[in-house]
Amino acid sequence: MRPEFEDCTEVLRHLYEFHDKELSAAEADEIREHLMACEPCLDHYQVEDVMRLLIRRCCSAEKAPETLRLRVRAIYTRTVIITETT
Ligand SMILES: [Zn+2]
Repeated sequence: MRPEFEDCTEVLRHLYEFHDKELSAAEADEIREHLMACEPCLDHYQVEDVMRLLIRRCCSAEKAPETLRLRVRAIYTRTVIITETT
């Protein structure tokens, strides 16, 4: 493994490029390998992934698909129920 991708800070710094597929195949492999072995970095990666997906949906002229709207509403409803019962 290349030394620069053994360090979490370096991996997180390259996460944007990884998402945008701006890294070489070899570099992307190294980051993917690190993510599989490192839970904190994987969390960062997944949060980033979800945020980008939501932002892209919100900013695009297309309407959000019905399934996504239902899923968001289900999560929201569940959150409200949990908040009310506690
Ligand atoms: Zn890490």
